[in-house]
Amino acid sequence: MRHRAEALRAEGWKVDYVELTGRFSDALVDYIRQYRPDSVLVQEPSQFAFRQALPRLSRKLGVPVEILPTNQFLVAEKDFKAWAGQSRHLLMENHYRRVRKKLGILIEPDGKPTGGAWNFDSSNRETYAAFRKRGPKLPQPPRSDPDHVTRQVIALVKREFPDHPGDAADFWLPVTREESLRWLHDFIANRLNHFGPWEDMMVADEPVLFHSVLTPMLNIGLLSPRECVEAAVSAYKAGGAPLTSVEGFVRQIIGWREFINGVYWLRMPGYEELNELQAVRPLPSWVYTGETELNCLRHVLRQVIATGYNHHIQRLMVLGNFFLLGGFAPDAVLRWYTEMYVDAHDWVMAANVIGMVLHADGGFMATKPYAAGAGYIHKMSNYCGGCRYRPDQRTGPDACPFNFLYWNFYATHRERFATNPRVGMMIKTWDEKPSAEKAAILQQAKDFLESGSSDH
Ligand SMILES: Cc1cc2nc3c(=O)[nH]c(=O)nc-3n(C[C@H](O)[C@H](O)[C@H](O)COP(=O)(O)OP(=O)(O)OC[C@H]3O[C@@H](n4cnc5c(N)ncnc54)[C@H](O)[C@@H]3O)c2cc1C
Ligand code: SF4
Repeated sequence: MRHRAEALRAEGWKVDYVELTGRFSDALVDYIRQYRPDSVLVQEPSQFAFRQALPRLSRKLGVPVEILPTNQFLVAEKDFKAWAGQSRHLLMENHYRRVRKKLGILIEPDGKPTGGAWNFDSSNRETYAAFRKRGPKLPQPPRSDPDHVTRQVIALVKREFPDHPGDAADFWLPVTREESLRWLHDFIANRLNHFGPWEDMMVADEPVLFHSVLTPMLNIGLLSPRECVEAAVSAYKAGGAPLTSVEGFVRQIIGWREFINGVYWLRMPGYEELNELQAVRPLPSWVYTGETELNCLRHVLRQVIATGYNHHIQRLMVLGNFFLLGGFAPDAVLRWYTEMYVDAHDWVMAANVIGMVLHADGGFMATKPYAAGAGYIHKMSNYCGGCRYRPDQRTGPDACPFNFLYWNFYATHRERFATNPRVGMMIKTWDEKPSAEKAAILQQAKDFLESGSSDH
């Protein structure tokens, strides 16, 4: 906000920048008294509670509050709701194809998708082993150096919030429009090329890999989704990046990002409080320090504490998977993600955490839970090599906790998932295990979870 005020002043605007010492609405009341405007203009807030509060705010201020459409999303709330109302199944893939056609993104004149397919997932999702064998060289990760304004804010954060996890001195992200555009172009020039194939891979001490790291700027309006998509499509047209990567990136933005926002407005209020699996366990304290023997969690936690950022698979398949399998309470998990990520906002957390990670909406967002044993993490990363646990053991002192927690999860929710065609096989496999193995798995999961929720 400080940089924005400076930039507007440089453009010749008169800017009244108020440092907030009390409530936002009180500061606005003072402002209205001073300037007596006819109305207040506000861009559609991306938070449900704030939007609900606008009529009250208008009464308090004594002037009309006019809401302008947001430019942070490509699909308007009304449009998504109308589509959702007519859809038998609310599938991201259907939403994605509809929006691509409507906006004409990677669509040929005959209405067919460019390259003859809507997705190229089979060329993507490469493993860590493949990366070691034939992966490209990792590019230099992006970094922005703090200027004098940012350094002042860093000092303020250190002073006001000394006990918060992480260190503001390590702040590395853009805070101006120019710097955000530089990051976008750096991604397009140096990482988009390999984005698709290596999107799901995780490498210890390499936080960025080929990801864009655009959400910190996208979610506060320093970049628009339209310009990010257009930049990627232009790179494809100019021969600068393959379709597999470009379509993969476009899918993330106009598919997932817009879908997640649509679901938030469709299901609020009440969505954030759902807890269909009745998970109640409190979070262990080490989620704020990264002090755990589970090497994958240690790396991913230390990364988010240091940078405020993890890529999607780290958020979903390492942390999220652990929170789901351990039966941790959705409100605690939601609060934790919101506290820890630099790109966190209510609209994006609700469907990702309550729906995608915790299955707490009973399967509204995802037809099957994103549950996985150690095999997945072992295949996609190099975390297991440096771990005190063994990814190939299901029980015993060296067994990876993800393995016994995985089977414990399906045993606990057997009735719910037995009729789900997408996980029926897992339930059958569990049912057919010898009773001694089942008992050992359940006992080890119980011991692990009861040891202070594994405060290892
Ligand atoms: C538990 C959990 C918590 C998450 N928390 C956030 C969050 O606080 N803020 C946030 O913006 N995203 C969040 N995501 C979604 C996704 O993980 C991040 O958008 C992505 O990791 C940001 O890094 P990036 O910009 O390098 O993304 P890239 O891997 O480069 O992907 C490109 C873009 O796709 C969009 N995108 C992809 N998947 C999603 C998704 N599921 N939801 C929304 N946008 C998506 C983002 O705008 C992202 O910039 C979360 C996902 C999970 C599973
Ligand atoms: S063995 Fe298990 S706990 Fe250790 S890094 Fe691999 S998946 Fe994580």
